[in-house]
Amino acid sequence: MPQVILRKATYDYRTLKRVFFDIMDALGGSRIEKNSRVVIKPNLLAPAPPGSAIVTHPLVVRAAVEYVLERRAFPVISDSPAMGSFEKILKVSGIMDALNGLDVGYREFERSLPVSAGAPFHTVEVAEDALNAGVIINLPKLKTHAQMLLTLGVKNIFGCVVGLRKPEWHFRTGIDREMFARLLVQIYKAVSPSFTVLDGILAMEGQGPGKSGIPREIGVLMGSNDAVALDAAVCRMLGIEPEELLTCRVAKELAPDGGDAVIDGEVPAVGDFKFPVVGSLVFGPRPLQSMLRRHFVQRPESDAANCALCGECWKYCPAKAIRCKGRRIYFDYDKCIRCYCCIEVCPHGALRAVDTLPGKLLRKVLRPFP
Ligand code: SF4
Ligand code: SF4
Repeated sequence: MPQVILRKATYDYRTLKRVFFDIMDALGGSRIEKNSRVVIKPNLLAPAPPGSAIVTHPLVVRAAVEYVLERRAFPVISDSPAMGSFEKILKVSGIMDALNGLDVGYREFERSLPVSAGAPFHTVEVAEDALNAGVIINLPKLKTHAQMLLTLGVKNIFGCVVGLRKPEWHFRTGIDREMFARLLVQIYKAVSPSFTVLDGILAMEGQGPGKSGIPREIGVLMGSNDAVALDAAVCRMLGIEPEELLTCRVAKELAPDGGDAVIDGEVPAVGDFKFPVVGSLVFGPRPLQSMLRRHFVQRPESDAANCALCGECWKYCPAKAIRCKGRRIYFDYDKCIRCYCCIEVCPHGALRAVDTLPGKLLRKVLRPFP
């Protein structure tokens, strides 16, 4: 049966370590075998300091490493970051410093193996190191996500898809958010981390998950043997129904008989949490969808004053819809599938999703008739 443990926490390391160890013990961490290889998978989205709430806090990573070392197993920090080098992220995030002196390995996910991901995907290539690990400790960050509403335990495992296969999958699932959620759930099930401990101490609200998000102190550490159950508990804590998070809804459809989770700890009510504006990506009759999307759906836009022309967005864009000319970048909104990956990877917070004028007017007209 899924179990979710929720504890108040701060980044004071002495208490954080105790809370983390208690959560892991309660989840059955003692079954980590001596000499086994344990992959620790934080959220390493981009090179960002801990105070930006973009990556899992270094002290949460340290607590996980120390827990594994106490079991006399071998901890390895792994991920396949969306942008920036793995080494740079480890340095800028403070993880390298926090783990200084500990016997820990660092290994970027590089090689993949095909795994069955069910209909309609059939096969997905997932990091070999994740699939072959004895145990995986999933360490997501509580953040908003402009495309998927929130990025929590299930979504963090998408980092086990190596490098540019990530934008490839964004492109293949296209503008269908529900399809993308289904993909995320199938990948999560294929990787099946033994433990998920979510860093919700300094979370992110607003237009996350990158630089456009706003850090927000919530002060919780949450653990579970089932990231779907953990994500559902986070939704309730933030004041929404789990079904509003597509990954939770899809997971429930795929396993309708899954029992309710046992919650250990009091779920604090987080008032006034700022969710991102997630506009609809498809509407209208199918033959007109492309035209309607172009004119009515939110689109990425750049703020030239903040754009450093670093190239991360056009390198990553799965639809090749961004080009640079002179000192500006331009979007091809016919090609753009509205995945908002560019917003996610922009290291300068220079991109955001904006409503079109016809889209704004349409929303005003439709508001009384939701
Ligand atoms: S929008 Fe962001 S990612 Fe794209 S070139 Fe400008 S600074 Fe780089
Ligand atoms: S321009 Fe941005 S939102 Fe559009 S397809 Fe490319 S990465 Fe996705």
